[in-house]
Amino acid sequence: MERTPILAILLFTLLHLAWMPSQLSAQPDLERISLVERGDGYGYVMRFHLTAAVDSFKVSQPEPELIQMMIYSPTLTANDFLEPDRFSNIRNVEYHKNPSGFGIDIFLEENIFLKANAYPDANRRHLLLNMEWSDATEINRLADASEFILWHNYMDELSVIDYEFYEGSNDELIRLRNGYEFNVIVIDAGHGGHDPGAINRSLGLRESDIALAVALKVGAYIEEHMPDVEVIYTRTDDTFVDLDERGLIATRAKGDLFVSIHANSARNAQAHGTEIYFLGMARSQSALEVMKRENSVVNLENGGGPMQLSDQELLIYEMANAGNIAISERIASMIDDQFRTRAQRRSRGVKQAGLMALWHASTPGVLIELGFISNPTEARYMASEYGQTILASAIFRAIRDFKEEYDRSIRRENRASNE
Ligand SMILES: [Zn+2]
Repeated sequence: MERTPILAILLFTLLHLAWMPSQLSAQPDLERISLVERGDGYGYVMRFHLTAAVDSFKVSQPEPELIQMMIYSPTLTANDFLEPDRFSNIRNVEYHKNPSGFGIDIFLEENIFLKANAYPDANRRHLLLNMEWSDATEINRLADASEFILWHNYMDELSVIDYEFYEGSNDELIRLRNGYEFNVIVIDAGHGGHDPGAINRSLGLRESDIALAVALKVGAYIEEHMPDVEVIYTRTDDTFVDLDERGLIATRAKGDLFVSIHANSARNAQAHGTEIYFLGMARSQSALEVMKRENSVVNLENGGGPMQLSDQELLIYEMANAGNIAISERIASMIDDQFRTRAQRRSRGVKQAGLMALWHASTPGVLIELGFISNPTEARYMASEYGQTILASAIFRAIRDFKEEYDRSIRRENRASNE
């Protein structure tokens, strides 16, 4: 589900009109964040103690247990503010100072259903984040209709960020991709040749064969139903292509999307389900910190070691790829949706990883683990014509839906610029 962009823009406009700060020059400083239980027992109020008015703010609750708030004010300082005391029902709080202002992630405990909205304090420059008791139904519905505030979108100081564009995912993609077309798709069947990938010996099945069969089917569906899209394969038979070469194929083809197809394996034969990785670094500041600390980018391929990157390289990568990361994440979640709903697979989630196969491709990319070859039931499903057809058509539908969404947003952008 998507929010209606018109409504969102209207709301933003109203907000600006109603609350146009009279002293734009004053530089707001965040002195303190406090958190109190509401007097009437209906929830909590988080207060942002600011010394001057900020431009605007936004609240989102993209997951039942995650409340996000972004305060827009490029001049805002938040150097040594006082943090709120620990509170029951709130698991963790993360702060995101960025060139556009200041953001916060509030992680609630499991099965704590609080609904958030924010408003300026009538008498002071403070902002109030109201968290009111609610129920699972309402919060889940709210989460379904909400978009993540992606902090990495605010990390690129070189680009002017117009936050009104971040209210709709379509506009966001346009901003980030600068109107590129979406018509070359690189399909990468994992492994091949002397590298069979994961193996199920008792069933005589190899990951490389399953990946190739599904990859060819996805490509055939695209060629049949999306005639304006060009499909490039990294391999079409059982040959070995090394990881560097796969990325180079995507780069040379000027691919708009790199889809790498794999099957999983685990020592536990019960493990099953799909996993989708998207090109990227870190959703939250703390995750970015972890990656920097580890100083490595995990290479998921069998036998590959971690790839060493310096802090500097990570930062450059993050900044250069903000647009690609957003698109990769969107497509990954659309594939995950298709797997869960149409293909009835168990989802092990959409995850972010810096993958060597994707690292070299300067294109949005996803890596799909179709299921576990180590699980006999799932292995037979993935090896069957039936299973491969379902999995491939789920991937195809997600790509088709994404392209439709993308093309729509380009047309809207063109219309808007012609007016
Ligand atoms: Zn693999």
